[in-house]
Amino acid sequence: MVHLSIDGINMEVPAGSTILQAAQAAGIKIPTLCWHPDQAVKANCRICVCEVEGARVLQAACSTPVAEGMVIRTRTPKVIKARKTILELILASHPQDCLNCIRNGNCELQDLAAVYTPDPPRFALAGRRHEVDTSTAVIVRDPDKCVLCCRCLEACNTTQSVFALGLAERGYEAMVVPTMGKPLAESPCVMCGQCIHACPVGAIYEKQQLDDLMKAIADPDKVVVTQIAPAVRLAIGEEVDMTTGDMPMEALVAGLRQVGFDYVLHTNFTADLTIMEEGNELLKRLKEGGALPMVTSCSPGWINFCETFYPDLLDNLSTCKSPQQMFGALVKTYWADKMGIDPKKIYSVSIMPCTAKKYEAGRPEMRSSGQRDVDLVLTTRELGRLFRMSCIDFEHLAGEEFDPWMGTYSGAGVIFGATGGVMEAALRTVYEVATGEELKDLNFTEVRGMEGIKEAEVDLAGTTVKVAVAHGLGNARQLMDQVQAGQSPYHFIEIMACPGGCIGGGGQPLTKANVKRAERIDAIYVEDEHCDIRKSHENPEVITLYNEFLDEPLGHLSHKLLHTHYHPRDKKFL
Ligand code: SF4
Ligand code: SF4
Ligand code: SF4
Repeated sequence: MVHLSIDGINMEVPAGSTILQAAQAAGIKIPTLCWHPDQAVKANCRICVCEVEGARVLQAACSTPVAEGMVIRTRTPKVIKARKTILELILASHPQDCLNCIRNGNCELQDLAAVYTPDPPRFALAGRRHEVDTSTAVIVRDPDKCVLCCRCLEACNTTQSVFALGLAERGYEAMVVPTMGKPLAESPCVMCGQCIHACPVGAIYEKQQLDDLMKAIADPDKVVVTQIAPAVRLAIGEEVDMTTGDMPMEALVAGLRQVGFDYVLHTNFTADLTIMEEGNELLKRLKEGGALPMVTSCSPGWINFCETFYPDLLDNLSTCKSPQQMFGALVKTYWADKMGIDPKKIYSVSIMPCTAKKYEAGRPEMRSSGQRDVDLVLTTRELGRLFRMSCIDFEHLAGEEFDPWMGTYSGAGVIFGATGGVMEAALRTVYEVATGEELKDLNFTEVRGMEGIKEAEVDLAGTTVKVAVAHGLGNARQLMDQVQAGQSPYHFIEIMACPGGCIGGGGQPLTKANVKRAERIDAIYVEDEHCDIRKSHENPEVITLYNEFLDEPLGHLSHKLLHTHYHPRDKKFL
């Protein structure tokens, strides 16, 4: 342990701690901008400077290790003056159009400016220097708002191992750019949106589509039907002044009806259906042969990644569409028929934790109903904005139920939202289908939690099946390199593009820290425990769907509506 004094508090901290860590342990707040709790230290912005007795210059708290007997002062006039000057220099080249900015009210730079604003400012505002990059269907970059903290580089290049972003030029001209300085659409970007979570300001965000939704809701010829993904409910409370996991499902359904959706259904229903199809696909590959390990296919960021970096392994992917797209194909066929609604009138909206789902819905393969299966995708953040715009008072809202035929789900469908959840849901069903025996303990705890790669073994009637789970594309890369080298010991792999799984998706309420993702995961397993039905194959509406429409898993209609194929993505930028 190291002994030190910080703002007059004598304390001891583990050797190797930084001044910032010591201050946090002492309950002393030091402002930060480039620092991120789950990333390597960068010390780019220097807003965290402190005085250290005996040191010639101010020290960056995030990168300076503590030493025995150190005396640190974090709030002297000299420190405050330095922070004000640093901020003034950042603001001098920043557009400062906060009232028109997506991050207004939730921006780390704005928060700093509220505290350390120079009075009066010495520099005139810089005009616009770079075009906003709207080249992709999903991610928007506004380089003028970038404060060069480099947190997006760490998210894209280290956590996700995509390398879609890099640094170009030097000094005042330095900027973050997509690969080769081209528009983002020409980079290997997989649309995962993790850079949005990393960014402290409004320099990266997703395309907003609320106006399109409002037009559809106002159109009397459209029947607006929504599906809501499992991870959304867990986090939407964070957007409307509740705590993680606290939004009751019934209140959410009522809120969606109040903003104008005609029918409210659940993606959990097709999560259960995915398990029926994917579980049977696994059993078929194990029995009859087929590419192994089979790898899950419900994360579109992961699909984009596999198509880009592992085009030789596309046969290993399950052919199942994601639950979003299974839902889209069924709502305009099976559900429309059951409800007696003309499918051409249906405007199908999905509410997702994911930015890549916006891209997925626009893929040309996703038109099995004869038209676009999912017309519009909103993120959880956009839903939060919609609720706030519509002034929904959740505190006094009477709860309502989902609409029939695609609104019932099991606990297995719920846990799809967490890393390991698809695997656990699949094992609950695959075990019972393969052995004909009831599973005694439904909880496969080995595949739960925030560890990057998890593994388990399951005995299926005398055959040991080895499974692995990865979340975050850097972890996925490790497993896929093994597969490519012919050294994978696994039969079945679950991959989710985002750290923590969908609860940490690029469209979720902004969160810097993995600890928030872990909180959302805890909430998801609580919901699973409270479900009356916890296995996908026991979902009564799924059973009805097979009896009345699909006939059997992997049957002819399933192949037409619920399965897909993949294409290698252009690698010219690699
Ligand atoms: S990024 Fe932040 S400081 Fe900059 S304009 Fe947007 S809200 Fe204002
Ligand atoms: S969306 Fe994902 S892949 Fe694209 S730039 Fe951001 S972090 Fe990188
Ligand atoms: S785009 Fe955002 S995260 Fe990336 S360097 Fe700029 S300010 Fe930081």
